[in-house]
Amino acid sequence: MSSTLLLPNYVAGAWDAAGSTDFADVINPATAEVLARTPFSTAAEVDRAVQAAAKALPDWRRVPPTERIQYLFKLKALLEQHFDEIAAITTRECGKTLAESKGELRRAIENVEVACGIPILMQGEHSEDIASGIDEVMIRQPVGVCAIIAPFNFPGMIPMWFLPYAIACGNTVIVKPSEKVPLTMRRIVELFAETGLPAGVVNLVNGSREAVEAILDHPTIRAVSFVGSTTVAKAVYQRGAANGKRMQCQGGAKNPIVVLPDADMETTVKIVADSAFGCAGQRCLASSLAITVGDAANTFNEAIADVARSRRVGYGLEADVEMGPVITHASRDRIESLIGAGTSEGARAIADGRSPKISGYEQGSFVRPTVLLDLPAGGDVAKTEIFGPVLGTMSVNTLDDAISLINSGAYGNMACLFTTNGASARQFRYEIDAGNVGINVGVAAPMAFFPFSGWKESFFGDLHAQGRHGVEFYTQTKVVVERWPKAWTRKF
Ligand code: NAD
Repeated sequence: MSSTLLLPNYVAGAWDAAGSTDFADVINPATAEVLARTPFSTAAEVDRAVQAAAKALPDWRRVPPTERIQYLFKLKALLEQHFDEIAAITTRECGKTLAESKGELRRAIENVEVACGIPILMQGEHSEDIASGIDEVMIRQPVGVCAIIAPFNFPGMIPMWFLPYAIACGNTVIVKPSEKVPLTMRRIVELFAETGLPAGVVNLVNGSREAVEAILDHPTIRAVSFVGSTTVAKAVYQRGAANGKRMQCQGGAKNPIVVLPDADMETTVKIVADSAFGCAGQRCLASSLAITVGDAANTFNEAIADVARSRRVGYGLEADVEMGPVITHASRDRIESLIGAGTSEGARAIADGRSPKISGYEQGSFVRPTVLLDLPAGGDVAKTEIFGPVLGTMSVNTLDDAISLINSGAYGNMACLFTTNGASARQFRYEIDAGNVGINVGVAAPMAFFPFSGWKESFFGDLHAQGRHGVEFYTQTKVVVERWPKAWTRKF
């Protein structure tokens, strides 16, 4: 294997050969081909990137917002121009189908577009005569050097939930992609460089835990945006907050879906299958629990199992493939053991996706769509994030029962309801403890101009990703009270 596979960092406007000799392989999860190696950057390498960002900050924050967004307009054009190429990189390193990779890239671009509204989004407020002849002004200023730490499941979209807002607001940034999927963001940073963005405004540091801890402990970094599993999100939040940083940390999820007997069953089954099995169940908004109410189970359960069994699984770059592999063999093994645990707890695997043979891709990390019927509510599998194409089902008697069951869970990323009754929909929307809610929608992903609103163990912090929340997170308010008596006016 060539040493050129070792990925460089991007620091102060130049690609910088990695100093670290430790690395993780970047593996195509369908073919098992090693695509690159992610160096585990050290604290000293993180510090170099932070110094570059700190050096760029004073000039960058003085660039007027109307000029800062010109780089984002150029980036948007470059992302459109290289759309298919970037989507293929995502599929190669992450496994999702090409259509899914294009979907996530589209959402990344939408965030660039929304951040182009920064001149108005970060506009301040002004009150005249708060007392006679005294005015008060609130302005928004950048926070400083910010860091973005991303998970593996959306290599392009998740860093872009944050990055466009951060730089448009006048901050400088260090982005650390997941060590499993660093190539999509590397390509996006290459395109950033083509826009002529000043050196040091965007820096990319590869790595894993050591790099993250160096970010959290670095005194110059003022704000950190993190997305990943709940255990890590909570630890990252606590360490960063203890070091006085502004933190927003998104964690894991379970994402229950409730199906009422009055739901349009044909549409419901199709949408729930896309939620549970789309992106091989590795969306943060993937549902892994369907709660049927009353006799909805009679039609829902077999119909969803039929869809699960008929999903075309394979390499995401091939036409007609509907679902790709999961990210690693370790992930596949964990998912298969959770399916086993579910059956030991008493559920019945009416579609069992363990140990599939995918012709031509025998080395890939595949699990086929799986349905675990009648998961016991008190068992571990009903509470654990599976992050694979596995849907457990449960049945309850009433909508109230379903809401209490969901609200007793630890996570609050998303909850969905399928019904044709407006009053049931309103009750659900009103009473459910989740930050993203779907009514007859299976992946309630907020558009770029809405906040991505996880609750409970799915989010640690106050301000969420995207839109106005992003602008508030990446700016600090300054309030100025001014007195300028007319008597002081010079006569010219
Ligand atoms: P992960 O927690 O393993 O890794 C996330 C990031 O943290 C990576 O950059 C990784 O290098 C770093 N990291 C890993 N272990 C660390 C440690 N001990 N200390 C410091 N940093 C560490 O998550 P993942 O497996 O890459 O992603 C999947 C998880 O992310 C799932 O739980 C999923 O629900 C969650 N996720 C949540 C959202 C959301 O919006 N809430 C979105 C996407 C993914």
